[in-house]
Amino acid sequence: MIKVFLKQGREEAPSRGHPWVFSGAIEQVEGEIEAGGIVDLFSHAGAFLGRGYYNPHSQIAIRLLARNPIEIDKAFFKERIEAALAIRKPILSPETTGGERATNSCRLIHAEGDLLPGLICDRYGDYLVLQINTAGMEQFRNEIISLLKELLAPTMMYDRSDAATRAQEGLPDSTGPIVEAEAEGGPLASGPLANGSSATGAAFPDLIEIRENNMRFLVDVKGGQKTGFYLDQRDNRALIKGLAHGKRVLNCFSYTGGFSISASLGGAVGVTAVEASADALALCKENLMLNNIPLDGQRLVKADVFQFLRDDENEYDLIILDPPAFAKRKGQVKGAIRGYKDINLYAMKRLKKGGMILTCSCSQHIDAGLFQKILSYAAVDASRQLQVLGSWGAPLDHPAALQHPEGAYLKAFLLRVVE
Ligand code: SAH
Repeated sequence: MIKVFLKQGREEAPSRGHPWVFSGAIEQVEGEIEAGGIVDLFSHAGAFLGRGYYNPHSQIAIRLLARNPIEIDKAFFKERIEAALAIRKPILSPETTGGERATNSCRLIHAEGDLLPGLICDRYGDYLVLQINTAGMEQFRNEIISLLKELLAPTMMYDRSDAATRAQEGLPDSTGPIVEAEAEGGPLASGPLANGSSATGAAFPDLIEIRENNMRFLVDVKGGQKTGFYLDQRDNRALIKGLAHGKRVLNCFSYTGGFSISASLGGAVGVTAVEASADALALCKENLMLNNIPLDGQRLVKADVFQFLRDDENEYDLIILDPPAFAKRKGQVKGAIRGYKDINLYAMKRLKKGGMILTCSCSQHIDAGLFQKILSYAAVDASRQLQVLGSWGAPLDHPAALQHPEGAYLKAFLLRVVE
């Protein structure tokens, strides 16, 4: 096994359980290794710290997979994946009176949060979407695909390995239906087919209809954002459904209308969705119709939220702010603080007395404490006094390792305007 030694004094984070080792912390790599190879990590003094995979091209040079020197093989992945699936059981199993599942979609594997750094798998009904983000995880692609098939028998699987992090890992994007190699006894292989169809000839659907807490959504796995849907906002959509009755709602950064549908089904009297992407808005409209929501109570606005909030003169009882991550990198934090403060300040001004705002940040570099500070400064500048009615993170299908705060990326505050 290739050994990697840390510089003096750099063992604190990995020995506490943080899964990342930055390239600057490494003193020496003993032996030749290719991107993605398995290594053992040692402190400067030679104490074993864990086993993981190494990528010399990435700033995060090592991601640890285990704290002890166990074999990283199919059996290892089987155990981790089974543990991950067990966590999600309660989300997927409650039966509705009709015998159908209330929710048939969730994230099944959440990378570092499931002790499988670089690996994401989302379930949309009977379909699976795979996203491999690192060279280390790519080495185990075939084992992972074969295990997912064995354990879940999906109708079809799709590869959406096109996250920006792949470039940092020196990997090209990989997207398309996942098919079994035809070669005799050959390993499973994946990759796009020229006609976009599977080995059996069936085409991967352009839209998959899913259920979330008895709401129905169309998901564009091939061309949508992330793997097609923001599964991490499931609980917050349910929260909004419970709060929306009789309210005039503004859903900012609406994507395909998740919060518009939940607010409408919860009894909102009018919902305005604001979104920059025309494709997302078009799907929002389809989702409204799919849930039998009359379109006359809906306003679908293609606009930049920053501008919309400045121009709009309406008042609302309930506003949802769910922007994309403004700080994807550490260097973007300053700009992100300005951005969050701006939209929150203007949204607070649009709220009636007693009105509420569900405001979110999914920037991993802005923690809950900083986000709350930003919100409090926005309130001062908006001349509003607000109460915190609650604050949440992502639901239990998006776990974060306790020692890896970066994994707890989603923050949501429910605030109410006192005056
Ligand atoms: N709340 C949604 C997910 C929102 S994702 C859900 O529950 O599904 C963020 C969305 O904001 C994306 O759809 C993106 O296209 C949109 N967006 C990004 N910047 C924007 C801007 N400046 N103005 C309007 N929409 C924007």
